[in-house]
Amino acid sequence: MNSEPQRYDVAILGTGPAGLQAAIHAARRKVSVLVLGRESQSSIYHHHLENYCCLFPTTGEDIIAAGRRQAASFGARFRDEEVLSLSAENGRFRLKLEGGSEVLATAIVIATGTARRRLGVEGEKRLLGRGVSYCVECDCTFYRDSEVAVVGGGAAAVHGALTMLDYARTVHLVYETLEAAPALAEELRRSAVVGHPGRRVTEILGGESVEAILLDDGTRIPVQGVFIELGAKGVLELAALLGVRLDEEMKHIATSRRMETSVPGIYAAGDITGPPWQVAKAVGEGCVAGLEAAAYAKRAAAAAEA
Ligand SMILES: Cc1cc2nc3c(=O)[nH]c(=O)nc-3n(C[C@H](O)[C@H](O)[C@H](O)COP(=O)(O)OP(=O)(O)OC[C@H]3O[C@@H](n4cnc5c(N)ncnc54)[C@H](O)[C@@H]3O)c2cc1C
Repeated sequence: MNSEPQRYDVAILGTGPAGLQAAIHAARRKVSVLVLGRESQSSIYHHHLENYCCLFPTTGEDIIAAGRRQAASFGARFRDEEVLSLSAENGRFRLKLEGGSEVLATAIVIATGTARRRLGVEGEKRLLGRGVSYCVECDCTFYRDSEVAVVGGGAAAVHGALTMLDYARTVHLVYETLEAAPALAEELRRSAVVGHPGRRVTEILGGESVEAILLDDGTRIPVQGVFIELGAKGVLELAALLGVRLDEEMKHIATSRRMETSVPGIYAAGDITGPPWQVAKAVGEGCVAGLEAAAYAKRAAAAAEA
């Protein structure tokens, strides 16, 4: 898509408790705010919440819907799309969205939670780094002229499979259901990616390195690489590619008490910064991150005018 990217002061990745609270606090500081992601992907969406201060047991769906209305009432905009890539340019961040469009933001808040990302199948752990990868953008160049499989049905997996077409000889995409935006799904349909809809990977086979994957219908697909792209992990890796420092276990984003990451203008909040996995912690961090991101965007605007 070639249209000019829309510009925002603050872009928030995630519509869970952390992202919504960040949106509420940033929008009330009168900066333009865009919130990205899918409500139903929040880990609290399908569950009950019993230990959040001042609320009697309620459903995740209800609190997320209320948070969205509240953030929108202060002016935050929403797009139910995932971010596929992040890059930095001229003091701004460029975000590529799954629908094909791009947006520019002065500051970003990463509040993407820690969605399930491991397949949990035989061979996955043992062959990690020896053909099993969790990041297409990081490892694509190792698989030139190879046979690879990407696992997952979301935007990250579809985008990953399309990206791999530039490197690998054959790209398989194994998924149970496709959950990508229509434009991306259409791009996939017209591509050379070999789709395996309605299928699960049950085992990753190999000795010293990956040799094949086994599907739940017994199909054996010979591959040298398996990319597991199941949601938020992609964001963690993309942030790391931008220079955002992760914690010692390389599982979460390291932040200061102001929810600053190691990259100026990028803030993080909620489960993505580490345990405890609790709504109360996500909301508290979201508040700080939203305020700090708004202040950063205002400082950047003032500096540009001076
Ligand atoms: C079964 C279960 C029960 C729980 N019960 C409780 C409880 O009783 N009390 C409690 O306090 N906590 C509970 N939790 C934990 C709670 O759900 C989390 O701590 C909380 O939801 C974290 O909020 P978050 O905003 O960080 O992430 P999430 O709520 O997980 O939201 C993540 C958001 O990021 C978005 N996203 C992901 N990738 C991208 C991308 N690439 N681009 C844009 N957006 C993206 C998703 O669409 C989603 O909107 C429970 C969790 C589970 C799984």
